[in-house]
This record gives sequence, C-alpha cells and structure tokens, in this order.
Amino acid sequence: MSQSIVVIAEHAEGQARPITYELAAFARTLQKEMPSPDIKIVIIGDAVDSVAQAIARRTGLNVFAIRVPDLAGYNAEVYKNVLTDVLTDWRPSHVCAAHSTQGLDFAPGLAVRLGAACVTGVEAIVKQDDRICFRRAVYGGKIMADVHANSPMVLLSVLPGCFAPDPRDAASPGSVKQWTMESAPERSFSRGIIRKDANASAVTEADVIVAAGRGIGDRDHLDLIYRLAALFPKSAVAGSRIVCDNGWLDYAQQIGVTGCTVSPNLYIACGISGAIQHVSGMRGSGFIVSINTDSKAAIFNVSDVCIVEDLVTFIPILIETHEKRCEASGMNP
Ligand SMILES: Cc1cc2nc3c(=O)[nH]c(=O)nc-3n(C[C@H](O)[C@H](O)[C@H](O)COP(=O)(O)OP(=O)(O)OC[C@H]3O[C@@H](n4cnc5c(N)ncnc54)[C@H](O)[C@@H]3O)c2cc1C
Repeated sequence: MSQSIVVIAEHAEGQARPITYELAAFARTLQKEMPSPDIKIVIIGDAVDSVAQAIARRTGLNVFAIRVPDLAGYNAEVYKNVLTDVLTDWRPSHVCAAHSTQGLDFAPGLAVRLGAACVTGVEAIVKQDDRICFRRAVYGGKIMADVHANSPMVLLSVLPGCFAPDPRDAASPGSVKQWTMESAPERSFSRGIIRKDANASAVTEADVIVAAGRGIGDRDHLDLIYRLAALFPKSAVAGSRIVCDNGWLDYAQQIGVTGCTVSPNLYIACGISGAIQHVSGMRGSGFIVSINTDSKAAIFNVSDVCIVEDLVTFIPILIETHEKRCEASGMNP
C-alpha cells in the first residue's frame, strides 16, 4: 500500500464540476499531513481529454484520463468496475470523491469491493495523537465526530464548500496520461438528462432569502414564508431539500450541496434543522437568523440570531408588528 492520494474528478457536459477543484484542495491539505505522498486525479468518460487538460492546468496535479468508449455521462456500475481495477493496481492510501449524489452513488460500493474503509461527509482534517482523523457531522450536525480509519485504504467523500480551491491556474500544469478501458453497464443505463426549465437566479441574486424547512409542517404555511419575504426588497423564498422533495417549492429554490449555494446579506431559516448538506449552501450568508422550536438545532451553530419559537406563531406576530410600526410612522409596509 503506497502513501498516495487519488482524487476522482466529477464532471458534466465537458466541464469539471467545482467540487473537483475543492477535492484537489482537500488532497493538498491532506498531503501536508503525510510523508511525501503523491496525488493523482482520475477522470472517467467517453471524451474527457479537454476537461482532463483543464484540470491539470488549474490544479498543477497529474491527471489520468480513462476513456471508456460509449460511456454516456455518469454510470455507477462503470465507475465501480473501472476504479476497482485501477485502484487495486495502485493501492493508494486515500481515495477522495465528492459528497454529492454521484459520489455517494459509487463510493461506498467501491469501498466494499476494495476492502477499504469509507468515511462520508468529510468537512475537515484533524490530527489526534499523530493520527489523521476526518471530521464529519453526526445527528444532523448537532455533534462533530473525528473518525480515524484503521484500514490501509480509506475512501473519503468530501462535502462541497469546505475546502477552497485556488482560483488561479497553477504555476505549472500537471501532466495528462490517457488510456482506454472497456466497461459496459449491465444493470443500469443513463437515458440522458432532462433539464427543467427553471432558473435559480432569483435565489442566487437575492439580497434577502427566507428559507422554509420541514418545520413549516404544511404547504399552506408557505404563505407565511412568502409574506415574510415580501417585507424585504430584492428578496426570494428558498427551501431545504425536503420541502422541494415534497413538491412545496421548486428544485431551483433548493439550498445546499445538491441545490444552490447562496450568500445573501440576510438569510432567515424557518423550521430548518441545519443538516450539513443544507448549511454548506448558505453558511456564506452575511447575517443568519433562525427560527426553530428545538433550542439545540444545529442551525443555531451558524446563526447570528437564534429564535426558539414555533414559526407558525412567531412569523405572523413579526409581520403584524412590522406593519403596525410602518403604520405608526406613515411608511409603506
Ligand atoms: C447526498 C445528500 C444531499 C443532500 N442535499 C441537500 C441539499 O442540497 N439541501 C438540503 O436542504 N438538504 C439536503 N440533504 C438532506 C439533508 O440531509 C436534510 O435531510 C435536510 O436538509 C433536512 O431538511 P429540514 O431541515 O427542512 O428538515 P428536518 O431536518 O426534519 O428539520 C426540521 C426542523 O424544523 C424544526 N421545527 C419543527 N416544527 C417547527 C415549528 N413549528 N417552528 C419552528 N421550527 C420547527 C425542527 O425542530 C427541526 O429542527 C441532502 C442529503 C443527502 C444525503
């Protein structure tokens, strides 16, 4: 087993996804804790040459472009087949994938095939008694756990938004090596991507975001969220994934790792627990106010103002108070 780090690039439509560069930054941070390890980036696809070149230029790391003929987009079976062969040969100590829908689709199964440990949702690297540990949230972000893997190889899924990549190209580009591997999926096929005709710009460009979580309890309570948002100019309504999964809001309004990343001046989180997948999409907000009935909700850890109240009672009082004040001062509410 070599002390080396392998990064699995995530890409779509001829471009590396931003998380690929965050994974490279994560690998560089990990590299500093280890005795002179080597870092390799692997990218898999049918036509990945130009994206491999772009990754090598930006990161300065060596990229291995594995061409799988006729591989249309991402396929978990093919990724697991190809990576099992390559990583069995290389035997790296650390394999880094994105903590994304895609990464979580193939990384745990790949770890089983390689007999490796798997630590998901990694947010930080910490040293404890000279051992490298990976920090991840448990119990919906209420507690952080530092996990040390005892196995010679460990697969890590790294949360987006935790490791900032260098915004410039590296001083000297890495090399790109290419080879072809045959692998055809037997059990699952991609039939293409259907894009929704929705745009997320209202959310990403808003100065104020009022976000609804499962704690709103009922679709009808969304009215409260819209009324609260209407008090602010250039505001937008957003939500947690559960609210979008329920069909209460559009996916273009979802905040988090699998939704939008936002940084408005003010973010009001209503009935949102603060799961790390949500927080990583909004923790860059200027000022965060959270309303939650649970005084120990993880969202309070990243909030400037924590309101322990039932939102169904609190928001109407807040709106009413604001309207009365405006009336008293002759301002438009
Ligand atoms: C790969 C992956 C990707 C994911 N991507 C995302 C993502 O992009 N975005 C995202 O949001 N999630 C994402 N998730 C889901 C995430 O893990 C959480 O499940 C989700 O964020 C929880 O949503 P929530 O806070 O609305 O609901 P819950 O966790 O159920 O929290 C509801 C909160 O409301 C509070 N509450 C209840 N009633 C009231 C009331 N009357 N007044 C005030 N507060 C009340 C409760 O105390 C609780 O804290 C992802 C998960 C995975 C595995």
